[in-house]
Amino acid sequence: MIIDCHGHYTTSPRQHEAWRQEQIAAHKEGRAAPNRPAISDDEIRASIEGGQLKLQQERGTDVTIFSPRAAGMGHHLGDASTSEAWAAACNELIHRVCTLFPRNFIGVCMLPQSAGVSPKNCIAELERCVNEYGFVGCNLNPDPSGGYWQDPPLGDRYWYPLYEKMVELDVPAMIHVSMACNPAFHTTGSHYLNGDTAAFNQCMTSNLFKDFPTLKFIIPHGGGAVPYHWGRFRGLAQDMKLPPLPELLLHNVFFDTCVYHLPGQELLAKVIPAENILFASEMIGAVRGIDPETGHAFDDTKRYVEQLPLSAADKQKVYEGNARRVYPRLSARLG
Ligand SMILES: [Zn+2]
Repeated sequence: MIIDCHGHYTTSPRQHEAWRQEQIAAHKEGRAAPNRPAISDDEIRASIEGGQLKLQQERGTDVTIFSPRAAGMGHHLGDASTSEAWAAACNELIHRVCTLFPRNFIGVCMLPQSAGVSPKNCIAELERCVNEYGFVGCNLNPDPSGGYWQDPPLGDRYWYPLYEKMVELDVPAMIHVSMACNPAFHTTGSHYLNGDTAAFNQCMTSNLFKDFPTLKFIIPHGGGAVPYHWGRFRGLAQDMKLPPLPELLLHNVFFDTCVYHLPGQELLAKVIPAENILFASEMIGAVRGIDPETGHAFDDTKRYVEQLPLSAADKQKVYEGNARRVYPRLSARLG
């Protein structure tokens, strides 16, 4: 079985995103948000059958761990109440996709984060999505301010109430920023990769996994700059008298394979143990074009993973075994 641990509903019906625009406009003008639009099952089916499902079949993957559009989370917009209503709408839509296509999609929720607001306010939505919808994880934005990094780092006790709930529910978080509203950053170019790299460094310089030995994070996009600069991080850890990185972080931190060329994948697989790599494509996401050098889609990551010099046993871990381990509720669902 091939599990893609990183997919977003980037093809959701138009009225869903249109409602978000109206919601934020209403918030700015001090009005109540309009009612949410009706979205039929047929519209959802059409949005999936011509998109994610088609590519799953074409590329030969089986299940996608599916969450709301990441750039669309927009935690810097509105306030805690708009974030709450938006997260509820997005997560409900994911639940509907997973109900219509139970063999192909398993849900992960976005959280109703808001810059400067305690992550405590995310607990109810996380519980609802796990207990009522059967979701297996969450996406956690380390920078709800959208590129200004105004909230405490992930190792700060500020985040602990959410971690306590994640540990209790046995769900991991993919550490995933949203849209950059700071013009210095390009959302999917620099901001995403900065977010990944910063999150790893924040984990390294904290007591997070001493305090939560079973907490699990997936750092997407191949871990940002981390594998490439593994020597720098090892050296920094050594200078700080920290334990070696595998001991310090690799029981808790995992990397996905959303790296869009073979040399990058080769580096990832060379530096990071196979036990810590989860197959992912983030397809129909940030990079949708065809690579003229290969003639294939940049985000068809299975083509790169197939070429890696890993044993069959290690490939099985990357494709399936690690995802089952990191998302225990996924394994329970898949049987
Ligand atoms: Zn993503």
